[in-house]
Formats: sequence, C-alpha cells, structure tokens
Amino acid sequence: MKDKRVVILGATGTIGRMSVNVLTRLDQFEVVGLAAGKDVKTLLEIKSKFPLAKTALTNISSEDVGFCGQDAVENLLSSTDPDIVIVGVSGFIGLKYALLSAKYSKRLCLANKESVVTGGKFFIDSVKASGCEIIPVDSEHNAIFQLMKSEKSEISFVYLTASGGAIRDIPTDDLKDVTPDRVLKHPVWNMGARITIDSSTMFNKGLEVMEAHFLFNLDPKKIRVLIHPQGKIHGMIYLKDNTVKALMSNADMRIPITYALCYPERTALFEEFDPAGTFSLFEPDPKRYPALDLAYRCLKLGDGSRIAYNAADEVAVQAFLEGKIRFTQIYDIVEKVIEKGWPKDVKDYDSIEQVDREGRIIAMEMLDR
Ligand code: MG
Repeated sequence: MKDKRVVILGATGTIGRMSVNVLTRLDQFEVVGLAAGKDVKTLLEIKSKFPLAKTALTNISSEDVGFCGQDAVENLLSSTDPDIVIVGVSGFIGLKYALLSAKYSKRLCLANKESVVTGGKFFIDSVKASGCEIIPVDSEHNAIFQLMKSEKSEISFVYLTASGGAIRDIPTDDLKDVTPDRVLKHPVWNMGARITIDSSTMFNKGLEVMEAHFLFNLDPKKIRVLIHPQGKIHGMIYLKDNTVKALMSNADMRIPITYALCYPERTALFEEFDPAGTFSLFEPDPKRYPALDLAYRCLKLGDGSRIAYNAADEVAVQAFLEGKIRFTQIYDIVEKVIEKGWPKDVKDYDSIEQVDREGRIIAMEMLDR
C-alpha cells in the first residue's frame, strides 16, 4: 500500500535522480511532487514515472509544468501535503527550501548541507519548532546518525571519513597546476561538480564538520576527520571504553537515501556489500587540506564566518571550473573573505541571506583583482 507521500526538491540533480531510482523500487511511497530549477526535459521524463506527481520549476517558466517561478516550491508543497520531502537541491538556496519543507511535512531527508551550515542553530530550531524531523542523507552524517541511534552511552567523539579526492596523491607543490578535468575524476563517489571539487580541497569535509556540529549538537573538539580512500567506512563513533563502532556499506548514495526514507525500517534494494579487502585510515595533512582547519576556525568565529565560508567557496569553485583561477586559489580566496570579519550572531533568515550575499560579492571582487 502506498501510504507515504513524498516530494523531491532538486529532482533532476544527482541526489534527485538517485532518489527517483530508489522510489521506483519501493511500493509504500507515492511521489506527489517534483521540483527542479530549469531542466524541464528531465523533469518531465521523471514525471512520466510518477503519474500523480505535480511539478514545479523555480528558474524558468514552462506550459508543461504546474508551478513556475519564485513561489513554485511553496505552491507545490502546500498543494501536495507531503509526509516526506527529499531536499536534494545544492547550494545556499537549500536553506530556504528546507525551511519551507519543514513547514509542510513531517520529515526532511536532508542532502543539502549548506542549509545546516549557514542556518546553524536557527535552522535546527526552526525545523524542530515546525514539528518536523531531519534524517541526514549526507553519507557521513547518515552513518553517524545510525551509529548514535544504536548507542545509549555517551559518545567521546565521532569520525567523519573523507576520500581525499581525486588528486590525493599529487605532490602538494604541484596542486597549483591541476586542471578542473583532473579534479572532477572522483575515485569513489559519483557526485555533482561543486562537491567533487570540494572533496579535493576538503572544503566539503569542512562543511561537513560544521554540519555534524549542528545536526548532532557536538562540540567541534569531538568531531574528527580521517582519510579513508576505499570509501567503505562512512562514519565511526568512539566510546568511553575505548571501543569504536564503524558503519560500512558500498559507496552508493542510494543507500542513505533509502535509509532516510524508510527509517526506522530497513529495506534491502541494492547489491550485497563485501567487507573484505584492505582498509586504510589516516589523518589528513593540514598543509594539503588547509580548508579543514579553516572550518574549525569558522565554528569558533561564529555564524557569519560559516556563512561566508560557504558563500566564498561556492564562488571560488565556480571560478576554478571556468578556468579563471588556479586550484590552490580556491582556498586563498575563501581565507581572505573570512579575514574580512563577520558578525558572530546571525539569527534569522534575512540576515543569513544578507551575509551570504556580501560573502559572494567580496569573493567576486577578489577574482577581479
Ligand atoms: Mg558527505
């Protein structure tokens, strides 16, 4: 029986298409809404699989789509009465859509990390106040969520694992010369362009440290990062008796998506996992990945610095993809933007949006220099 109504935001993106793949295999969910930015062709292809789904486009208009424009997502959510919203959009806009989704549904399957990073405590409190729960889809946080659920005693600290990206083995001195094509060849995960570049700089892991801080209400000192090139361990928790629990699975985003949809049930949809093999776990070199230390620094500095970290990185990654700056300049630009100084407390949506906008403007000015 189809007893859960699902809306997918960002339906045509990487997470969205994987969610579609999952949802076509599960009987208990009815997809009632699909939203995308401007890819109308893919949106309509997806809709053909879910005849009852209403559609929305945020960035362009189309006669074939139900809701278009600025209020398209809100109109979609208010007219479909979803139980669950998969927030698969990427970037800062995810904050706005995740907040809206919390208002209209009971569960966010949250793949958008920028909403947690930029919204911080304001975001977590707002979602809770709406009576909505968050099940993280980001694989590391999904792993930590699962591990914490299974543990009653206090957790000493958590480990987020990182692949180290496609250029993990290139000497640090040569990093300035790597091309976007080279960095986009991620060894383990199949993801969008920004997150793949962010994996190589570890800005992604920096954002994930911030994400873990707010999702699990953990002191930053209790959040550690280890490089794990094999991509089989997604998260670990360290317990007070000096034992460590790890969560392992294939590196396939459809697994955390399925978990987040079905929680607290488990459903086997994909190929079996073979835990055999050689594993390595090692500490990241701070000289190669300065973005990680900068993330911890931003957590100390406060709300504005986190928002600026995300905004400046988004601008710098785009500039790198367009060939305007070198790989190592991504970090240089973000660090300089942070050093401008940002307010410690940013506690409402409009103020967050304003800091985001200022962070982008300052980053863009640096590109022009
Ligand atoms: Mg992740």
